[in-house]
Amino acid sequence: MIRACHLYPDLLNLYGDRGNVMAFQKRCQWRNIPIQIINKSLGDTMDFSNYDFVFLGGGSDREQKLIAADLMKRRDQFEKAVENGLVVLAICGGYQLLGRYYATGDGRHIPGLAILDLYTRAGSARLVGNAVIEMKQAGAPVKVVGFENHSGHTFLGGVKPLGKVLYGKGNNGRDGLEGARYKNVFCSYLHGPLLPKNAGFTDTLIRLSLRRRGIDQDLKPLDDIFEERARTALLGRLGLKAN
Ligand code: GLN
Repeated sequence: MIRACHLYPDLLNLYGDRGNVMAFQKRCQWRNIPIQIINKSLGDTMDFSNYDFVFLGGGSDREQKLIAADLMKRRDQFEKAVENGLVVLAICGGYQLLGRYYATGDGRHIPGLAILDLYTRAGSARLVGNAVIEMKQAGAPVKVVGFENHSGHTFLGGVKPLGKVLYGKGNNGRDGLEGARYKNVFCSYLHGPLLPKNAGFTDTLIRLSLRRRGIDQDLKPLDDIFEERARTALLGRLGLKAN
């Protein structure tokens, strides 16, 4: 049984980010992998040591501030679970929350959990549009497609990027990097939602979540013809070859 926790589904759900949890759940169910989705929001008790996969979506600055204060109370148990291999996918606002701080455009300083060594500052230009990154999956480079819309410009310290930008702006529009990766934590600015658009990435997260349960198994292949056609069509529209 995979225990998947959707954090703040009522507050962090920009651009259909909830679809990430749906895709993760569906691809487990299609393979008869038992999965439980646990929704947690402001003030709820949380037990990160008990979850295999945690999802945090994107939100506006207002929601980010509320959530930062709530999550800070459980920061240490969240960090401990991350160090022990908890699988996390954090998108946009959720990504920024895992870093050291987010300095907003109107001069406010939202402290982050500082579980990942990175910080974010609002830039003068909003970074908006389709995006494609190249990331490694099972050692091979794979193009991952999505859509970004953020004013925060993120800079990485002692963590790796999720991938390099092939199209779009990425973390800050300058260094050609997108997202962040630390242990089993994957952060990205890509909405889309990301997982329904990139079935291979979803399976990477499922495989890691099973491993956290002590199950090391190859996943049964699924018929991804429609997912792959959609991905190839978008890559073609942006002038990129499919891989
Ligand atoms: N408020 C953040 C920004 O604009 C996050 C936005 C989002 O999650 N889409 O940078």
